[in-house]
Amino acid sequence: TTSNPTDFIRDIIDDDLRTNKHEGRVATRFPPEPNGYIHIGHAKSVCLNFGIAQQYQGTCNLRMDDTDPLGESMEFVESIIHDVRWLGFDWADRLFYASDYFERLYSFAVELIRSGDAYVCSLTPDEIREHRGSFTEPGRESPYRNRSVEENLDLFSRMRAGEFADGAHVLRAKIDMASPNIVMRDPIIYRIKREPHYRTGTDWVIYPMYDFAHCLSDALEGITHSICTLEFENNRPLYDWFVEKLIPGPRPKQIEFARLNLSYTVLSKRRLIELVKNHFVQGWDDPRMPTVTGMRRRGYTPEAIRNFCAQIGVAKNDNLIDISLLEHCVREDLNAHAPRALCVLNPLRVVIDNYPEDLVEEIECPNHPQDPDMGTRKLPFSRELYIEQDDFLEDPPKKYHRLGPGREVRLRNAYVIRYESMVKDEKTGQVIELHCSYDPGTRNAPPADGRKVQGVIHWVSARHAVPAEVRLYDRLFRIEDPGSEEDYTKHLNRESLEILSSCYAESSLGTTEPGLKYQFERLGYFCADPDTAPGKPVFNRIVPLRDSWAK
Ligand code: ATP
Ligand code: MG
Ligand code: MG
Repeated sequence: TTSNPTDFIRDIIDDDLRTNKHEGRVATRFPPEPNGYIHIGHAKSVCLNFGIAQQYQGTCNLRMDDTDPLGESMEFVESIIHDVRWLGFDWADRLFYASDYFERLYSFAVELIRSGDAYVCSLTPDEIREHRGSFTEPGRESPYRNRSVEENLDLFSRMRAGEFADGAHVLRAKIDMASPNIVMRDPIIYRIKREPHYRTGTDWVIYPMYDFAHCLSDALEGITHSICTLEFENNRPLYDWFVEKLIPGPRPKQIEFARLNLSYTVLSKRRLIELVKNHFVQGWDDPRMPTVTGMRRRGYTPEAIRNFCAQIGVAKNDNLIDISLLEHCVREDLNAHAPRALCVLNPLRVVIDNYPEDLVEEIECPNHPQDPDMGTRKLPFSRELYIEQDDFLEDPPKKYHRLGPGREVRLRNAYVIRYESMVKDEKTGQVIELHCSYDPGTRNAPPADGRKVQGVIHWVSARHAVPAEVRLYDRLFRIEDPGSEEDYTKHLNRESLEILSSCYAESSLGTTEPGLKYQFERLGYFCADPDTAPGKPVFNRIVPLRDSWAK
């Protein structure tokens, strides 16, 4: 059992429950815009919102925040639904679409016009920007600010009817052009945008702005705690202003927390879209992507991602989280749950001269050294094997506990073998085959004469092994904080993918299926990729065994 986390957001909720602020209810929401695939940053928000709902026996809505038609699509809606469920959360019948509120949002806007709190402004976008002022200068009022209610109602309904060109008019809230908070200087509520919407088609040519739609959607759904990232801190007074004007009663409380920034990657949807569009990666589910779909394909588990989110907690100040913490959580989960297997990435043929030509022994070995419940499997052993090229050195240093002239080594789960001779390629001089002898008394037993054999290496039986492709991934960027760089693509790691196409996996892996995960002994954790074909597995390296980046 794990205890519930504590953080400043849960403290606020505890306080609200003590004062019976929302009649003891806790209602959160996760509000993605379906204009891209969700990433590890969104996962943090998912874990936070759904986690709070679980902890307080409240509710968490999944709401598609789909009020800006540009770039939104059903493909993204479906991916979000799939990914949130895969992360381990369930919203039952609480799936909502902000676009379902278009008609009500329109009525709310009309209400604001009627109460003298909104007006149609006909300045150009540039003029609006100029009038807005800056941190040091107050804004100037629009010459259209004092239009009559009748004129505003007429113009707004004609905006909706499609009588005007894009950008000709906007609807603005009439608040305070002198406010020190620029957000409050008569913000835009509606703009004309002739862009078909993936759900409402061409029904609308005006669309509400985020600041207007989001808070009212929260209030309509009875959200009690509206958790968002820090960049919305200045928008909170506007959030409250709209809700107070339009939906009386207990109002949702906006609470801001620090977004997740992760080292060696970018976590902005806009940039992830660019990586995909410009083919820097192979797609949204490229295993190097920090998207949920990419991490799933890579072999990360929902448990590991949830653990990571719990460990980083929620902060009030932006910071950069070390990606090795995420990798640590992945390793920890896989170490406990991934069966062990043997796979040779860079094969070197070994012939055991004194082993009978036709003999095949089946060596029973545990699938997990600490977990007998994971069972055993039979590993075929025969006269010709493959070992890793770098487990042999022609002229090894003293401390090299692997094979070399005059040396012995133990084959994992099997015998001790001794080097006898090597065969070199005549042209390249490269070692292409080793001849060894084995000690028949050493199958899973120490040498009878008491001599020490220190090294243990992995191997596969050449005759039985399955040819495999293995894809090794490295960090997508060469610098720690690419997100802070304007020209971030300059820092892409061009060596972030290495494909090894002549690997050999132990025979049991011939029937692997996409998504199955293993520890390849001595190498790391690997996951069968969807590109796997019958008898031709393709594996993604999830993480190496140890953090090779640790200093
Ligand atoms: P991005 O900023 O990456 O382009 P977004 O904020 O536009 O993403 P939305 O779909 O609008 O993406 O976000 C849905 C929810 O996920 C929001 O509540 C948002 O605050 C949260 N979220 C997005 N990115 C992060 C992040 N890096 N860390 C924590 N929460 C995030
Ligand atoms: Mg957004
Ligand atoms: Mg955003």
